[in-house]
Order: sequence, then structure tokens, then C-alpha cells
Amino acid sequence: LPDAAVEALQPADVAARLPRPAGESQKYARGVVGVRAGSAEYPGAALLSVSGASSGLAGMVRYVGEDEVATTVRAQHPEVVGAGRVQAWVVGSGGGERAGDELAAALEDGVPVLADADALKHVHEGQELAVLTPHAGELAAMLDEERADVEARPLHFARLAARRYDCVVLLKGRRTLVARPDGAVRVNTTGTPWLATAGAGDVLGGLIGSLLAAGLPAYDAASVGAWLHGAAATEASSGGPLVAGQVGPAVPGVVRRLL
Ligand code: AMP
Ligand code: MG
Repeated sequence: LPDAAVEALQPADVAARLPRPAGESQKYARGVVGVRAGSAEYPGAALLSVSGASSGLAGMVRYVGEDEVATTVRAQHPEVVGAGRVQAWVVGSGGGERAGDELAAALEDGVPVLADADALKHVHEGQELAVLTPHAGELAAMLDEERADVEARPLHFARLAARRYDCVVLLKGRRTLVARPDGAVRVNTTGTPWLATAGAGDVLGGLIGSLLAAGLPAYDAASVGAWLHGAAATEASSGGPLVAGQVGPAVPGVVRRLL
């Protein structure tokens, strides 16, 4: 990526941006992240999105979805609670037909909204979004381009989308790019090819949502989230195969070593 405007976060840059609780902090002040993901057809996406949101970096996680999915989520994540005020929403992973309504509901709250996966089909210019997290195929569909063209010129298309939708666009891949509407771009340097596994992106969305809820600006939330996600995957993988459910639980250990 021969572009002077592209920077890579170093561990010290990530450490400097991590939210840290103050002595008098209570859970609401640390930020509440809401997850509107998954569906009866894809309950696993709800679990994985919540596993990323449960990074410990925000003070609370709320899950909003179909009753049977919510029951499954709470059985595996007893700390997760139901509807209420949030400081950021994560929408779309495994949302299927629900994703459009979930995105509209999230946007009504006036807090930062991250759209992933099925929610990206309902994104259009003029909405007030904080972060989009497409892979190359999803970004190609949004921009009415060919996937191969997006893969050939990821920097160009990430910047184009950030300008068009006036929000941060995180283009996932081997070298994830995080683009801002003004043209600034960060490239992520952590991770492992073993991360190319179903559900890995759902965890990333939840994790970035927890950082948005904690109050990080969208550009920092997306790039710090991508860094932690990649580092957690490398740690959980230890050079071998990985399933997406291992990534979220590895995040607190990565964070601990940065503090
Ligand atoms: P998704 O496509 O939504 O499942 O997200 C896939 C996740 O895995 C993203 O965080 C990608 O950046 C990451 N990923 C996919 N392929 C690779 C690869 N070859 N090397 C490193 N990370 C990858
Ligand atoms: Mg995905």
C-alpha cells in the first residue's frame, strides 16, 4: 500500500486509546453497548456478536432480538441484559430479514451505530452511521462493483465508501483497512490467516461496538478493535486452527498486557 496517508497502529498507540475505568466509575459511565444481531435462522451470529461486545471494555451489554435467540444468548452470557438505553448499537450479523428493521430502530436512538453483514444491504447515503464493516463482497454489492475490483483496489474503494456514506468504513480482509471520510486510512497489522473462518467478523463488530460505547471516536474504535481482534485471534490460534468463538474470550488477556 504505497500511500503516505496510510498509517499502522503500534501497540503503544492502541494502549493509549484503551478505555480505562476510573476509581469511581460505575457500569453505566463505562458505556452500554447494544447488539441487534442474529435471528432464529442464525442464532450463532447473535452469540458471536455478543461475545465480541463482552470484551470487558464497556460496562454492560444489552441484546435485543427474537425471544428464543435472546434466551440462548443469556444462557451462554449471563451478564447480558435486555432492552434499554445504550451508548452504541451493533447491527446486522446474521440478521437476515430482520436487519433492515433493526438498523432503522438503532438509528432512531441517535447514538453511534455500527452496521455489518445483512444490515449493510439497508445502508444508504444520508443516514447517520458511525462504522460500516463490510468484507470485499459486501462492499462490492453496496457500491455496485465487482468483488474482484474491490479486492484489486481496496484502498480506493474503502475511501470512496467512507466519503459516500460519510462514516468510517472498515474493509475486512488479510490487511483490514479503516477509512475515514476525509481520506485518512489505517491498515491493520495483527491477525492470522486462521481468522478466515465463519463468524470471525461477527466478533469484530461486537468488539468495535464495545469501544464505541466506551466513548472512543469511530475511527479509533474501528482501528483499535481490529488490532485487538487480530491479536486475540493470533493468541487463541497459537499457530493452529481457530473457531470464531475462541476470539472474544482472548481479548481481555490481550488488553491486560497493553495496560
Ligand atoms: P467476515 O468476512 O465477516 O467473516 O470477517 C472475517 C474476519 O477474518 C475479518 O476480521 C477479516 O479481516 C479476517 N480475515 C479473513 N481472511 C483473513 C486472512 N487471510 N488473514 C487474516 N485475517 C483474515
Ligand atoms: Mg461477516
